[in-house]
Amino acid sequence: MSDIAALDKTVSPSDKFREFLSTKRKKFTREREIILEEVFSDHEHFDTDQLVLRLSGRNDGKQVSRATVYRTLGAMEQAGLLRKVARPNGREVWEHDYGYPQHDHMVCDKCGELFEFHNEEISSLIEKIASAQGFLKTSHRLEVYGTCDPCRRPKKRRNRKLDLI
Ligand SMILES: [Zn+2]
Ligand SMILES: [Zn+2]
Repeated sequence: MSDIAALDKTVSPSDKFREFLSTKRKKFTREREIILEEVFSDHEHFDTDQLVLRLSGRNDGKQVSRATVYRTLGAMEQAGLLRKVARPNGREVWEHDYGYPQHDHMVCDKCGELFEFHNEEISSLIEKIASAQGFLKTSHRLEVYGTCDPCRRPKKRRNRKLDLI
């Protein structure tokens, strides 16, 4: 869940991935292309099994194996296209790192929803703390755990049809 706008990408994710793969002397195979297209078709956070499921629903006859999905996501992480974000039950989900601005997450312990936010003060504070330690920061990851607004509301009682008789 996010209202953070995506940045303009001057180099497309597929060009960036192709470039990365060529430095590793690997080919941008049709399988890798299919996975990349599916991943960048929307910005929602996803876990690897969900992606495998989405890919298996394709009906163009091209099947991508689970192992290929795992390996390709790992390569996309190395290429700076994806990053991992933790979730409450220990499961890790992926999100776009490329073409998407720095942001942090609030994680609901009840429903597992991720809420994105960006705050300049937090960023500059981390910057200050790091430089005071002589630490050269490359990135940061901040997760705030708790209960989201909808989960905090008391559940409405459904009007059961039987009650009306
Ligand atoms: Zn919730
Ligand atoms: Zn996010």
